Amino acid sequence: MENLINVPEIFGSNVFNDRVMKERLPKAIYREFKELSDEGKPMSGEMANVIANAMKDWAIEKGATHYTHWFQPLTGITAEKHDSFISPTDDGGVILEFSGRQLIQGEPDASSFPSGGLRATFEARGYTAWDSTVPAFIKDNAAGDVTLYIPTAFHSYTGVALDKKIPVLRSMSAVSKHALRILKAIGNTTTKRVTATLGPEQEYFLIDRNFFLNRLDLMMCGRTLFGAPSPKGQELEDQYFGSIKDKISAFMGDLDIELWKMGIASKTRHNEVAPGQFENAPVFTTLNIAIDHNQLVMDMLQKVALRHGLICLLHEKPYKGINGSGKHNNWSLSTDDGQNLLEPGENPHDNMQFLIFLAALIRAVDKHADLLRGSCATAGQDHRLGANEAPPAIISVFLGNILTEILEKIGNGGKYESKGVSFLKVGVDSLPPIPMDNSDRNRTSPFAFTGNKFEFRMVGSSMSCAGPNIVLNTIAAETFDEFATRLEKAKDINAEAAAIIKQVMKENSRVIFNGNNYSSEWEIEAGKRGLPNIKNCVDAHKAFTTERAGELFSAYKVLSKEELHSRYEIYIDQYAKTINIEANCAIRMVKTQFLPAGIRYAGILADSLAKVKAAGASASVQADILKDVSGLLESASAKLKNLEAAKAAACDICDCTKKAESYRDNVFTLYTELRDDIDRLEAIVPADIWPVPTYSEMLFKL
Ligand code: ADP
Ligand code: MG
Repeated sequence: MENLINVPEIFGSNVFNDRVMKERLPKAIYREFKELSDEGKPMSGEMANVIANAMKDWAIEKGATHYTHWFQPLTGITAEKHDSFISPTDDGGVILEFSGRQLIQGEPDASSFPSGGLRATFEARGYTAWDSTVPAFIKDNAAGDVTLYIPTAFHSYTGVALDKKIPVLRSMSAVSKHALRILKAIGNTTTKRVTATLGPEQEYFLIDRNFFLNRLDLMMCGRTLFGAPSPKGQELEDQYFGSIKDKISAFMGDLDIELWKMGIASKTRHNEVAPGQFENAPVFTTLNIAIDHNQLVMDMLQKVALRHGLICLLHEKPYKGINGSGKHNNWSLSTDDGQNLLEPGENPHDNMQFLIFLAALIRAVDKHADLLRGSCATAGQDHRLGANEAPPAIISVFLGNILTEILEKIGNGGKYESKGVSFLKVGVDSLPPIPMDNSDRNRTSPFAFTGNKFEFRMVGSSMSCAGPNIVLNTIAAETFDEFATRLEKAKDINAEAAAIIKQVMKENSRVIFNGNNYSSEWEIEAGKRGLPNIKNCVDAHKAFTTERAGELFSAYKVLSKEELHSRYEIYIDQYAKTINIEANCAIRMVKTQFLPAGIRYAGILADSLAKVKAAGASASVQADILKDVSGLLESASAKLKNLEAAKAAACDICDCTKKAESYRDNVFTLYTELRDDIDRLEAIVPADIWPVPTYSEMLFKL
């Protein structure tokens, strides 16, 4: 069995993890390092030197020639600049060096990263700082090039966060601090730390590389801007969980090995709903690590796909008319003594704890639905959210009937009677028992309780998980803070807990919805309940410009008002730029590919028409088609002119919000309308004349 894969041996083999450190560091240094990094304290230069040296030796044994400070700027993807370990000697040779200073801090020339004006007001340089809570790792590419990756945070000279990692870490501290206060207040004195956990399920499409290379839109925008529907789409529902083709499982197998090497617990893989669509899910872990890992998953999906002659599309909506891709953000809270705070317990006290945290999340989501929505807003997401596929743009919470009834009963001051469901044996007056298997399944809710975690399903497939989790942690921290303050003062904890739940049911239960979120009735009902229904990216981002948002993020020390505003400017600017690129690409394709194809066909038809007529026969078919083709060509070229004018006008606007709105209302609308003509043209032009691969080919020739 020479192909036998030794998974335990492979797993984490490229990670400078605890085991490696224990093995390679002097005992005293290892112990001190663990203590310091647990407490988040800086280490001495001497200690950094010892660790850097051990790291370098380990990396070189693995074939590494370079190291890089790996960071997460506000682009949503990761950044890296590689430096080799070489240091020239006097005699014309080199030695390999890596100092503590090089490990701890880097100064990348960062002026080309988006900063939303932050750096200009402070200092031009950006700094990367080693995040010692996350292990360094090695990435080896297919060509045998090996690099040591050091996970870092990216900030300005004065400590302003220029990245997505710093606010994630800050928001995790906030959530931990206030969750811990609740635990203490209700009598738990053993728990020392609460950690947010995350398991992101990643959806993606695969496409044959040759098709990809023949589509400018896929290459430039990651999605098709044109394309007539395939005769068959996803309507037979034969793709979801279907048998995985050998070619695809070869890819998935390679992917798993690459991920396992980097210590990523890739666990689940399957076909998704749309043809050519798949999913990968890891075992959940500490939230910031899970975010890093998801970035690596997205990166490796693309790299490994290439080795198999495939391209991985991470865009939220590569194809019109079939499902897009998302990222289900499974979130919960773990404690250092092994509890999951969203797990109903086995005794009344634990159930009270569970219900308080559950109620807190309901309240947080209701109060700040706009921020959650805003955290998932991108140009790509506008094709998904609210477009009759998972999930709608209205934020609601799914609890399932049993939990909803329990909370309602407490809200009404009554007791919950079991309805033949198996309940845990508890007997406290004010708080009811919780059945073990308490939540039914619902696939349409944007924020679903799934037994012992919340699944936030609005996150886009190409997005960093950072933004949505920064919001989720911060809004949770705020409500935990509020409840902790009440519970700390309470004389009768049970009564206060019941009072808290009562208040939540009174003020926030409008956000609970267990029905079909895709239905039009829900949209009407949600409107009556006063729930926000924000349809597009530009409007959704405005949630971050309110006074209330500024207060929230600064109160919990997650983002200062300045940091928050910079992000608004960056994201709104990214939207405008994305639409501008799509418009450029649409114009180029129409001018150089689709109009010429149509004109060619018109010529063929005209020739045939003349010849057939000359031969004395009727050429009515040619005449009819020619009329259609000419009509579409005229219509498309008129729209093209309008599009070019609208693009120029939007481009000239200075105010970032107005600019983005102009791109949305004028530019985006125009190339969407232009698509209608081109797609109709595609449906009548001969296949051998059509200049780009079709939907049928891209989706099914895999
Ligand atoms: P589904 O049926 O929705 O696919 P799974 O049980 O397979 O649900 O879990 C999906 C994801 O949720 C996995 O990545 C899993 O590790 C993660 N998950 C499970 N428990 C937790 C938790 N306590 N915190 C965060 N994520 C979790
Ligand atoms: Mg799921």
